[in-house]
Amino acid sequence: MLVDLHIHTNVSSRCSSVTPQQLVERSRELGLDAVCVTEHSTGVGAQVNYEYALEQGFKVFRGMEVYTELGDMLAFGWLDRVKYYLFPFTELRKEVEERDGIIIPAHPCRGISDARHRYRHTLDEELAQAIVAIETHNGAVTRKSNDQAERLRKKYGLFGTGGSDAHHVSHIGRSLTVFEESIGDERELIEALRGGRYRAIYGDELFGGTDL
Ligand SMILES: [Zn+2]
Ligand SMILES: [Zn+2]
Repeated sequence: MLVDLHIHTNVSSRCSSVTPQQLVERSRELGLDAVCVTEHSTGVGAQVNYEYALEQGFKVFRGMEVYTELGDMLAFGWLDRVKYYLFPFTELRKEVEERDGIIIPAHPCRGISDARHRYRHTLDEELAQAIVAIETHNGAVTRKSNDQAERLRKKYGLFGTGGSDAHHVSHIGRSLTVFEESIGDERELIEALRGGRYRAIYGDELFGGTDL
């Protein structure tokens, strides 16, 4: 099952131009089985896209991307309006774990200009305890950053996910997660992410060097 795990839309992310309609149309065109909408610090956009996609017979899973002092975190299982823009990781962990959700660090080795991503060779101890997977294939950072994330993944024995981090319709599918099993709902998605029966890939491995 082919899933883009990290997408922003214009419903809640001002930095994105992707409309719910474009999201469904483009994902279908690419042959994706589902996508995750992960807006910054709110679950509202994910909910709107989820409902729209449901009407269209396409599968959208709801998540969030939360800005913490340990970097951006993809969170599944907890949907809310995050109270503060920079949300303490400990609080995020509490909210997500109370709901039996999962946290996956997004683009953990993004550019050196981002001071929060200082753990390029090691993971913060609390973070390492809280996760089973990191995003090793992010469609919006350099291959070098992703390769570094892949090295971190191996070092800590984690699973790796892929998501485009799309902010424009043409970016959807740049990076993907291929699950071995079919996933029906968000509870199953969380279980699957914990189980590790998936791998991250770049879209061009599937779609060739097309105009992605
Ligand atoms: Zn991010
Ligand atoms: Zn993002």
